[in-house]
Amino acid sequence: MRGIVFSDKTETLVQALTFFRQKMEVDAAVPAENTQPLQEYGAKRLYALQGTGFSDNVSEAILGIIEREKYDFIFIMSTALGREVAGIISDRLGKEIIAEVFDFNLDNSKVRTKRFAWGGKTVTEEESDCRIFTVMPGMTEASRTSEKSEVVQVKLNDSKISLVQSIPKSSSTVDLEHANIIVSVGRGIGKKESIDLVMPFVRAVKGELAGSRPVCLDYQWLSEDRQVGLSGRKVKPKLYIAIGISGQIQHIAGMRGSKTVIAINKDKSAPIFEEADFGIVGDLFQIVPALVKALQQ
Ligand SMILES: Cc1cc2nc3c(=O)[nH]c(=O)nc-3n(C[C@H](O)[C@H](O)[C@H](O)COP(=O)(O)OP(=O)(O)OC[C@H]3O[C@@H](n4cnc5c(N)ncnc54)[C@H](O)[C@@H]3O)c2cc1C
Repeated sequence: MRGIVFSDKTETLVQALTFFRQKMEVDAAVPAENTQPLQEYGAKRLYALQGTGFSDNVSEAILGIIEREKYDFIFIMSTALGREVAGIISDRLGKEIIAEVFDFNLDNSKVRTKRFAWGGKTVTEEESDCRIFTVMPGMTEASRTSEKSEVVQVKLNDSKISLVQSIPKSSSTVDLEHANIIVSVGRGIGKKESIDLVMPFVRAVKGELAGSRPVCLDYQWLSEDRQVGLSGRKVKPKLYIAIGISGQIQHIAGMRGSKTVIAINKDKSAPIFEEADFGIVGDLFQIVPALVKALQQ
C-alpha cells in the first residue's frame, strides 16, 4: 500500500507522517521552503512544491504526481489550503472524500476511520472504500526516523489567484510554555460565561488561563492559542490545575510535564485523577468560589 500526504504546515505534517508510515509506504508533498525540517519523518519521497501555492496550482501539481505514482490513498491535512485542495482533487478524480478523520486503519480491503460528530461530543467510526481523506492535526506525537527522504523538486504553474494583501495576525500574548501556574478549564464548565467564575481563581493563584480542545477549538470559549494538548500547546508548569477536564490522553499529552497537578472533577473515576497529585471530587461551581474565598482570607 502507498499513500501521499499533503500539508502546507510542517507541525501537522510531521505528526501525520509518523502515523501513516506505520500503515504504509508514504510520500509527502510540501511547500519547497518546508522541505528541510521534514526529511527525517519517514516520507520515502518529499515533493518540494516550488513557487507560491494556491488551491488551483497546488491541486494541479498533486494531481500530476498522483497520476504518475498511482497511490492507493491520498491524505490532505485539514488546513484552509488543504481543505480547498482536497475538494478540487476529489472533484477531478471523481472520487468521494471523508473529511476530518483522526484515526485510520486498514481492515482487509476496507478502511476504518474515526472522526468527531455532534460538536465533538461523540466519535463516529466508519468503514468505507474511500481513498481520499482530510486529516485533523494531532493524530499522534511526531517522531523522527533514521532514514532521510529523497527530495524531488516540482515547479508550480502560475495560479489564477493572486495575493492582494496579507495582514499579519497579532502575535499571541499568551506564554503558556513559560507559565509557572496554569489553570486549565474543560467542557465541565458548561458555558463561556463560567469563565467569569474561574477568573478570580486564576488571579488569586497568579496563574495563566488555558483550556482543553472542546473549550478552545470546538466551542471557542477561549482563544485557540490557549489549548493544551496533543494538537495544542505542550506545557510544563510547576502547578497545573485542571477544572472540569476529563483527562483524555490527547489532553494529558500536553501537560504531562507539569510538576504538580491538581484536578477538580465531579466524576471520581475521571482519568484526570490518575495524573493528579491532588484531587477534589465535587462540583466545580461550588469548589472554585470556595477556593477563591479561602485564598483571599
Ligand atoms: C487527534 C486528536 C487530537 C486532540 N487534541 C487534543 C488537545 O490538544 N487537547 C485536548 O484537550 N483534547 C484534544 N483532543 C480531544 C480529547 O480526546 C478529548 O475529547 C478532550 O480532551 C475532552 O475535553 P474535556 O476534558 O474538556 O471534556 P470532557 O471529556 O467532556 O470532560 C468534561 C469533564 O468535566 C467534568 N464535569 C462536568 N461538569 C462538572 C462540574 N460541574 N464540576 C466538576 N466537573 C465537571 C466531567 O465529569 C468530565 O470529566 C484531541 C482528540 C483527537 C482525536
